Amino acid sequence: MTNLPKSILAVAGAILITAPLAAQKPADTEIWEPVPRVVTAGATDRDAPSDAVKLFDGRNLDEWVSTRDKSAARWTVTDGLMTVDKSAGNIETKRRFRSYQLHIEWRIPSDITGTDQGRGNSGIFLASTGDGDAGYELQILDSYQNKTYVNGQAGSIYKQSIPLVNPSRKPGEWQSYDVIWTAPMFNVDGSVKSPAYVTAFHNGVLVQSHFALTGETRYIGKPEYTKYESAPIKLQAHGDKSAPISFRNIWVRDL
Ligand code: MG
Repeated sequence: MTNLPKSILAVAGAILITAPLAAQKPADTEIWEPVPRVVTAGATDRDAPSDAVKLFDGRNLDEWVSTRDKSAARWTVTDGLMTVDKSAGNIETKRRFRSYQLHIEWRIPSDITGTDQGRGNSGIFLASTGDGDAGYELQILDSYQNKTYVNGQAGSIYKQSIPLVNPSRKPGEWQSYDVIWTAPMFNVDGSVKSPAYVTAFHNGVLVQSHFALTGETRYIGKPEYTKYESAPIKLQAHGDKSAPISFRNIWVRDL
């Protein structure tokens, strides 16, 4: 064999390699079932698809309650948007969720004042596990030219994960989050079987890429997990002194 021209060796080699494939057909690797469910997409990528639950469509707060006492949510609804009422406290969904896809739009007021964490602070607790700020917070803040600790700026998982980039728009402009939340799973004894994961886009830009959380958000101290099965989504009425922020067009899809 060693005296044969290289081209003949190459052809012989190709035949040896491809021979077992000759018995295979393209159809062998085609999958035809189950057929994915048909979903009618929204008119634009920010509009709810047909299988989404609209959590706020600009009309009322029927899907929301006060976190404090579960009474009707008392934030302000005007002109198709809802605005935080800081005296009314956090609000959360009546519905409970495990893993989901969420779209939410928010706007820092154009007359925002304050600095650092005291400038347009709010947040989305991707799973609200109790009263107050209990849960897993995706931070909302005016992070347009506003210096703060980077694991507390907009797009961070508060005090756990720095956003990959800062695509913040100016105060007064609408911004969006698109979030994929994978709920944590727990063993019977409460230990973590698999952590929560979050992927998030801020204004369409990836800021959290399948980040594995180490527990619930803690203002002081290290994150910790507490077992839960399903949980509401909660919006934060932060006690900073800056003008309250607004939300619109919130929808969610169970995964
Ligand atoms: Mg916050």
